[in-house]
Amino acid sequence: MGSATGFLDTVRIENPFRNEAERLGDFEDLHIAQGCEARCAQASRCMNCGVPFCQSDFGCPLHNLIPEWNDLLYRGQEREALKRLLQTAPFPEFTGHVCPALCEKACNLENDCVTNRDNELYLIETGFAKGWIQPRIPAARTGKRVAVIGSGPSGLAAADLLNQLGHEVTVIEKADRAGGLLMYGIPNMKLPKEIVERRIRLMEAEGVCFKLNTEAIPEELQGYDAVLLCGGARRPRSLNVEHMDAQGVMFAVDYLTAATRAVISKSASETSAKDLDVVVVGGGDTGNDCVGTALRQGCASVTQLEMMPAPPEDRTPGNPWPEWPRTLRTDYGQVEAIFRQGSDPRIYETTVKQILTDEWGHISGLETVKLQRTPEGRFEQVAGSEQTLKCGLLLIAAGFVGCEERTLDRFALKADGRGRLLPEDGSHHLEGRLFSAGDMRNGQSLVVRALADGRNAAREIDAWLK
Ligand SMILES: Cc1cc2nc3c(=O)[nH]c(=O)nc-3n(C[C@H](O)[C@H](O)[C@H](O)COP(=O)(O)OP(=O)(O)OC[C@H]3O[C@@H](n4cnc5c(N)ncnc54)[C@H](O)[C@@H]3O)c2cc1C
Ligand code: SF4
Repeated sequence: MGSATGFLDTVRIENPFRNEAERLGDFEDLHIAQGCEARCAQASRCMNCGVPFCQSDFGCPLHNLIPEWNDLLYRGQEREALKRLLQTAPFPEFTGHVCPALCEKACNLENDCVTNRDNELYLIETGFAKGWIQPRIPAARTGKRVAVIGSGPSGLAAADLLNQLGHEVTVIEKADRAGGLLMYGIPNMKLPKEIVERRIRLMEAEGVCFKLNTEAIPEELQGYDAVLLCGGARRPRSLNVEHMDAQGVMFAVDYLTAATRAVISKSASETSAKDLDVVVVGGGDTGNDCVGTALRQGCASVTQLEMMPAPPEDRTPGNPWPEWPRTLRTDYGQVEAIFRQGSDPRIYETTVKQILTDEWGHISGLETVKLQRTPEGRFEQVAGSEQTLKCGLLLIAAGFVGCEERTLDRFALKADGRGRLLPEDGSHHLEGRLFSAGDMRNGQSLVVRALADGRNAAREIDAWLK
């Protein structure tokens, strides 16, 4: 149970961020990893509570055995701790970088919670560094073939487990690199791409076959016993204004993809924010990633518009612990914008009323308008609140409305009212040999939820194949 007085003796210390001035000069990892001593001390703070909410449904969707591996880490048994972590977590190096750590918000220590995410990252990176992570080749094969469509976290987690269960797995991915949003979406500074590539190489060594640059077509999947659709929820929500086709208006994931391609190829991005006034529509995590990326590309200014009011500083009575706190967070990109510009880039209760263009069809500015809620809960524009903003690059990060229609059409499938392929019985089985998982089944969510869902789908397919 860690140290009996661990949380009293040791204060919570997360892996620190590199300072703003330094990290804005590159796309390298935001954080500085701490060593064994610091991690063991942090693990000592875990109290092995009678009811460990961290691993309950309120906490980790993978139900990681958090108190157990924290205890082993505290005692210096790193290899045993890693084994315990890998019982439930397929890729701790991904969650160790990008998970919002639902487990920590559900920790009994509340704001003083244990640094589970950093501890998890330390364990897996120690495993790689010490050579404990080696390809696990299944002892026997079942002779069953499974195609996994999409190589995001849900597809990778499903492929990993199906392969370990002895099935022959092919992952079909339309992009030129595997990883889904882990590769092209989440920026390099949050998740360095060599970490994604390292896992793909390991999975290949374990027998998983990756077919890249290949869009899945049902006619070409005849030879598979089961097909798992993990295509994500990648249809972006648009703005209901004219000139959305103007040059300099882009959806966030397209922009972030171009930025990552440039980082990987060490060349200039084909769509750079350099010297431009950037406006990001959407105050969520994707919007924040756009802010951080635009600043690194050398934008002249960055503003973030959010239609909702600013969240409260503290939990409200309707949002008690151990629920995820719906409170104001100032993420790394916003911190960097404050450092660079001297003010918070976020403007709340505001949207775009009009995109202004120049004579060459390029965006030149925006007319914004304030929003207010009607008693029925609808948003309405506040008359006379219009303002003009300079804008050379408009990035739309207003959320996602479901899976791509092209894939639905190809497979002759119909999504539900929220754009999801979610079977009515709550399972992963759509029809015949078709299954779904991840954001495609549940709507845009989190990496850790996609991993958990991919593993659940794999178990269901395994049972069905038997
Ligand atoms: C910018 C951004 C930042 C984010 N940051 C975080 C974060 O910090 N932490 C976090 O927990 N979550 C984050 N998320 C959410 C998280 O990335 C997703 O919830 C997760 O990636 C979903 O995984 P998935 O496997 O379901 O789908 P995806 O990751 O979307 O992968 C789907 C894959 O399927 C492929 N595909 C689709 N159709 C076909 C087809 N017909 N044939 C072949 N391939 C196909 C796509 O090319 C893609 O590679 C972020 C999301 C975005 C957009
Ligand atoms: S995956 Fe996320 S929620 Fe689960 S233990 Fe790791 S940091 Fe916590």
